Amino acid sequence: MTGRADEPTDAVVVGAGLTGLVTAVRLARATGPGRVLLLESGGEPGGRARTTDHQGYRLGLGPRALYHTTRAELGALGIRVPAREPDLSTALALRDGALHPGYAAPGPLLRTRLLSPRERLAVARLLALSRGHRSLAGTNAAQWLADRLPTERAREAAFAVLRISSYTGRPEMIDANALAAHFAEVRRGVGYVDGGWRTVVDALLARARALGVALRTGSRVTAVEGGARPRVTTADGQGIRARSVVLAGLSRRSAGRLLDPAGQPDTGDGGNSLHTACLDVALSRLPDPRRTLVFGVDEPLYLSVFSRTARLAPDGGAVLHLARYDDGGGLGATEVRKRLHELLDLCQPGWREVLVHERFLPRITTMTAVPEARTGGLAGRPGVRLDDHPGVFVAGDWVGPRGLLADACVLSGARAADAAAARL
Ligand SMILES: Cc1cc2nc3c(=O)[nH]c(=O)nc-3n(C[C@H](O)[C@H](O)[C@H](O)COP(=O)(O)OP(=O)(O)OC[C@H]3O[C@@H](n4cnc5c(N)ncnc54)[C@H](O)[C@@H]3O)c2cc1C
Repeated sequence: MTGRADEPTDAVVVGAGLTGLVTAVRLARATGPGRVLLLESGGEPGGRARTTDHQGYRLGLGPRALYHTTRAELGALGIRVPAREPDLSTALALRDGALHPGYAAPGPLLRTRLLSPRERLAVARLLALSRGHRSLAGTNAAQWLADRLPTERAREAAFAVLRISSYTGRPEMIDANALAAHFAEVRRGVGYVDGGWRTVVDALLARARALGVALRTGSRVTAVEGGARPRVTTADGQGIRARSVVLAGLSRRSAGRLLDPAGQPDTGDGGNSLHTACLDVALSRLPDPRRTLVFGVDEPLYLSVFSRTARLAPDGGAVLHLARYDDGGGLGATEVRKRLHELLDLCQPGWREVLVHERFLPRITTMTAVPEARTGGLAGRPGVRLDDHPGVFVAGDWVGPRGLLADACVLSGARAADAAAARL
């Protein structure tokens, strides 16, 4: 204890990633200037949506595509994102170590030699028509694909496409309703953002500042108590009293620890977290402009030249993102990196001679909790209110009945902001 008096404010948002920024902007719009304090433990805002700059090459922390819901929610906050749609018709499928004309778009899918005519039609129907439905909830995606598709080869082909947009390498892990609803969202179009997701973070920050949100970086919250006047404690021992507190973008486990530091750790009943290995690469020249989008079929691999679609590199240069999705095989980081390098060798031979920057992220958290069939899928996720902690709300990729990934962040952030504003 420092003996310092508690600092008074109206609303505190903990975490300045995408969720926290959306929450803070929406709260400030509802309540007016000078009433929202945004606390971030890191040295800068953005969280996992950060983009780093290397001699003018913009590298996200792994590949990022913005979905329709996120764009619409940002639009509702007055933020227009400069994003462009990648051309999926040129995608190649990697199978048995060789590249084939791909089937990520309907045309190439109906012509691919990797599938029989019957398999092509079944996969095309599933990818074109699937949408979330209550009847799918509680079934895992492996079972759903087995029910809908005639052969193992067709199931593998369909999942190769579904995997890319959901980051889920294990069909038995994710709830079928959540996956199908997400893929319906993806069909509405995805956008690669000019300048990377930093463009979104910067726009949200500028909006937050204009609305009078106070951002404090390097401020780690260590405890939160609910009540008529909830209290937040930061690592330097300072107490802050507010009317509402939103824990935004913290995992379920981290939020639980802040609310009950002495309690039992959360056993993870809300679904397992999901991790992905990513290789982010800047090249001064693209060795092969024909091999810019590759989907692994029999191995969960991905390569995309993002700069082919969005403005991310100086003239003539290229930004590539490669990933290997976690299929539960337990491959070590060295082996994963080797396989990603092999994919680069196959698609962009000579890349080492034109390398500007390379970053390997062996295990970045793509989802803090997967909506699993066994946890009730999307309907099993908690809402923004915490019954035992009045005045404290949660938001993030594990909260609320709709959306995966950033969609869940912005939707739950908006709900939490509205609930928090109602107490001011
Ligand atoms: C490789 C990868 C690819 C992805 N691709 C896509 C995609 O294509 N489309 C899509 O929609 N989504 C995608 N996502 C998901 C999306 O990036 C995340 O859902 C989103 O950025 C998460 O934002 P967040 O604010 O909820 O969490 P975070 O970004 O993790 O932010 C949480 C913030 O809280 C801060 N914090 C934590 N604890 C405390 C504390 N005690 N006190 C103060 N601050 C604290 C952290 O420092 C952090 O800045 C991807 C994610 C990854 C990793």
